[in-house]
Amino acid sequence: MTGRSTDLIHHPYEPPAGFAAPQVAVHKASTVIFPSVAALRARDWRQKTGYTYGLHGTPTTFQLEERLAALEGGKHCLLVPSGLASITHVCLALLGTGDEVLVPDNVYGPTKAFAEGDLARFGITHQRYDPMDPRDLAERLSPRTRLMWIEPPGSVTMEFPPAQQLARLCRDRGVLVALDNTWGAGLAFNGFEAGADVVVQALTKYPSGGGDVLMGSIVTRDDALHERLKLAHMRLGWGVGGNDAEAVLRSLPSLQLRYKAQDHAARILAHWLHGRPEVAQVLHPALEGSPGHEHWKALCGDRGQAAGLFSIVLHERFAPGQVDRFCEALRLFKLGYSWGGPVSLVVPYDIASMRRPGSWPHRGVLVRFSVGLEDPADLHADLDQALRQLQ
Ligand SMILES: *Cc1c(COP(=O)(O)O)cnc(C)c1O
Repeated sequence: MTGRSTDLIHHPYEPPAGFAAPQVAVHKASTVIFPSVAALRARDWRQKTGYTYGLHGTPTTFQLEERLAALEGGKHCLLVPSGLASITHVCLALLGTGDEVLVPDNVYGPTKAFAEGDLARFGITHQRYDPMDPRDLAERLSPRTRLMWIEPPGSVTMEFPPAQQLARLCRDRGVLVALDNTWGAGLAFNGFEAGADVVVQALTKYPSGGGDVLMGSIVTRDDALHERLKLAHMRLGWGVGGNDAEAVLRSLPSLQLRYKAQDHAARILAHWLHGRPEVAQVLHPALEGSPGHEHWKALCGDRGQAAGLFSIVLHERFAPGQVDRFCEALRLFKLGYSWGGPVSLVVPYDIASMRRPGSWPHRGVLVRFSVGLEDPADLHADLDQALRQLQ
């Protein structure tokens, strides 16, 4: 067995005859030309044995799909134009009127908006469950429940759920389990071993790594489930550009290296912030005392990996306006959403307004950091100078 980095570099790929380079070419086409009417009629877009039309795949997108399926430990992969589209696609393909979907209370915000705004219009209901309490999930399961989402950890508040336990509850009742693996990137843990039927990822984050591509992946192991997702994918007309697919392919060989570096830097900063008097709590799953730390250890291993993403809750004596100015005082950490790119990012959040009333235990303002690829010593100095201004 070889390591993830090795697999992502030494991947079975057959270059065009006479051009033996390991890099994958950018293929762009709407139309594929057939040699005869018989060949046109015979070619089946559902099988990856040939090409029929640009929307159904090119050598570039097939290659990316194959590598992502391998990365996640799955069998099939579909590409969509964003991470959010991977979530909405799974819902649209697998749910119908009268069904219910369960999402964690700390779920990626736009997923909640999609459930409230669009699924509701189609007569598909949703409930938000407490991701840290399997009993709460169990009580919400009903004969109408078709799909349950897990997000380890919540991407702003960083609670790491008991994913295997949550998944088991659903699988025992025939409820499909979908897992958003953007944080784990296919590296920190295997989504299928965590109990998922479908694993999605915002390739926008770590797999792209450049902050310049928006894309999502939907990976499955089960042939019949893949077929359902694939047919809906065709009917809905999803496709991704060849240049974007190539940009992700180009970044995959350095995925593990970048993830490790960002993990390492984030832990240095999180540990240091843990000791600062301005900080009430550091939320990082690999940190002792952070919500779900034990679950992180169970899924990722005692010395497991973590993304370069963490949050802090500032002491409640700092008003929201002061925290805004702290964020603006940072020079290397830029104000902006997303993560996984080279530039470190910071966003302040008003969590209480995003949760069920009374369920968020902290009084201070939460600030989320995404650690980029800058020198950790420089990021440390940047946080230090901005914290001094907070005094
Ligand atoms: C960013 C993100 C998404 C959405 O990805 P986009 O490509 O920005 O649409 C989904 N889930 C999680 C956990 C994310 O962080």
